[in-house]
Amino acid sequence: MSKVLIIGAGGVGRVVAFKCAQHPEVFSEILLASRTKSKCDVIAKDAMAATGHNKITTAAIDAEDVPALVALIKQFQPKMVINVALPYQDLTIMDACLETRVHYLDTANYEPKEEAKFEYSWQWAYHDRFKEAGLLAVLGCGFDPGVTGVFTARAAKHHFDEIHYLDIVDANAGDHGKAFATNFNPEINIREITQKGKYWENGKWVETEPFEIGQKINYPNIGPRQSYLLFHEELESLVKNFPTIKRARFWMTFGEEYLTHLRVIQNIGMASIEPVKFQGVDIVPLEFLKAVLPDPGSLGDNYTGQTSIGCRIRGIKDGKERTYYIWNNCHHAEAFKETGAQGVSYTTGVPAMTGAMMMLTGQWSGKGVFNVEEFNPDPFLEKLGPHGLPWEEVFDVDLEL
Ligand code: NDP
Repeated sequence: MSKVLIIGAGGVGRVVAFKCAQHPEVFSEILLASRTKSKCDVIAKDAMAATGHNKITTAAIDAEDVPALVALIKQFQPKMVINVALPYQDLTIMDACLETRVHYLDTANYEPKEEAKFEYSWQWAYHDRFKEAGLLAVLGCGFDPGVTGVFTARAAKHHFDEIHYLDIVDANAGDHGKAFATNFNPEINIREITQKGKYWENGKWVETEPFEIGQKINYPNIGPRQSYLLFHEELESLVKNFPTIKRARFWMTFGEEYLTHLRVIQNIGMASIEPVKFQGVDIVPLEFLKAVLPDPGSLGDNYTGQTSIGCRIRGIKDGKERTYYIWNNCHHAEAFKETGAQGVSYTTGVPAMTGAMMMLTGQWSGKGVFNVEEFNPDPFLEKLGPHGLPWEEVFDVDLEL
């Protein structure tokens, strides 16, 4: 039985709070803290009503203020922090964890505000400090990154002697009825997808223009969907941790309507992160855009359809080539019914809770900073289905890629 501090009260924070509250035998006391306390209060009230957990408290915190974080952690004394605020806060939260000797888990790698660039180097640089302090930091424990790394670890542990080709395929075939909205924080999402594409081939990164490479991919229970090659952060850790990989790519579906809106947003300068003067005040166009777009947390109501995310792998087992596909499909409506959040928040929050459970029960252990694929995938995948994200696997099928 442990105390846990959850930081961030967006769509993902809501799901993490609900899922932790469903397991009081592990998460005996929960403190939900975020910039806007009123959002935490609503989530805490809903989660307690839905689960019967009676020890969820809330607090206001600016997670970029290390002394304030340290004071909050010292006062509550959690065993670990689950960071589901924004990637900008990763390093300050890690600093506070080091100072207070508390374990750490997040779902997205650090990104500086002033530059749309995400990579693990900043957080990997904390490895020695976490190791010396005897602490564990688990990076990227959402779905992608997160479950996709665990799926790859399962493939490597049980089904392949060498993985050669890895394609992560991510479809959101949901319909929220809005002309344009993003499924998680619009600022982070638009920064991610307007970057150049990148994939790993024969020991080096190959760069593409945004949305330059696309093709139709068939997703289970969904059918064919136009999918585009993007860079996604787990590619960086997976090619490092599985050095037999010759090529690793990431594909995500985007509809025509979404891409048209995105093109307009870019063409008129609203995707820019360079501040502009407006009526004497500096504003960042993308931050302003975020304020007028639908709140991803509000998309759950009437969101129909499902997501499908998985790994398509080709490699060698016992001297023979084989293919393997492992995936999860998640229904937006079912996620909403259970937690009041849509499927993208749900598929992120459930693995974050499951990873935290692995840490608190000692099934994932270590000293230092690690990515999820470095741990034993079996206990995590045993729990993932019962926690709400059942997965399936097939062998020797046409991977299409
Ligand atoms: P939201 O924007 O809905 O929520 C972010 C929350 O963080 C808000 O409650 C916000 O507070 C809070 N926050 C922002 N800045 C601070 C700060 N300085 N101090 C304290 N709290 C702060 O995002 P999501 O819930 O959709 O996403 C959460 C995280 O999950 C993101 O890092 C995202 O990148 C990641 N993610 C990972 C995925 C994966 O599969 N690995 C998929 C989807 C998301 P306020 O309410 O005041 O704005």
